[in-house]
Amino acid sequence: PAQASAMVSGAPDAGIEWVLWTEAEIAARVAEVAAELGADLRRLREPAVVVGVATGAFLFLADLVRRVDAPLAVDFVRAESYGDGTESSGRPRITSDLKVDVAGKHVVVVEDIVDTGNTVSCLIAHLEKKGASSISVCTFLDKPSRRSANFQLVGDGKFYRCFECPDYFVVGYGMDFAELYRNLPYVGVLKAEMYKKDTSN
Ligand code: 5GP
Ligand code: MG
Ligand code: MG
Repeated sequence: PAQASAMVSGAPDAGIEWVLWTEAEIAARVAEVAAELGADLRRLREPAVVVGVATGAFLFLADLVRRVDAPLAVDFVRAESYGDGTESSGRPRITSDLKVDVAGKHVVVVEDIVDTGNTVSCLIAHLEKKGASSISVCTFLDKPSRRSANFQLVGDGKFYRCFECPDYFVVGYGMDFAELYRNLPYVGVLKAEMYKKDTSN
């Protein structure tokens, strides 16, 4: 596994090569997406269930839902496909399940980033099995160039995204490398030397 804690010391942004989206750019765009999602959720006859994918979506979910002007429930799932490296294993597992019953409910899956699409496909199948009547996906970042699993939304589900992300491994605003950098208020690209030292996975 990566030894990021040994490589990073001092400032929380040590190891960031450059910034892709600043805190202000993120706030402005999240507000736009929240307005769009809120307008859609207000048309429903009952509250939606917003399902955050832990841990990466925690900041985005918090910023998003406080700007969504509609009744909703919040819950989390944990899905893991990465070890501590920068490549997905391609076989995501749900390692912590929902508490809220989603049968017959409109579900909005909130993700930090949709990359290959494997995680979101796995979650959609899982939520569909639990009887969700519609499934939308709201992702902070979307890396369409990396897609290998073509996921299908359910019912009247929609796909929302804040930004299209170029093909870099990014950190910050909830996203980690070996559990670090999640607390950065912006999104940045790691210096290659931060993870190229890691040859064990
Ligand atoms: P996917 O299953 O779509 O390939 O990726 C799912 C998860 O992998 C994302 O939700 C995210 O947690 C992680 N991931 C994918 N790309 C990146 C990236 O560039 N940076 C970080 N920190 N995590 C990523
Ligand atoms: Mg994620
Ligand atoms: Mg991660």
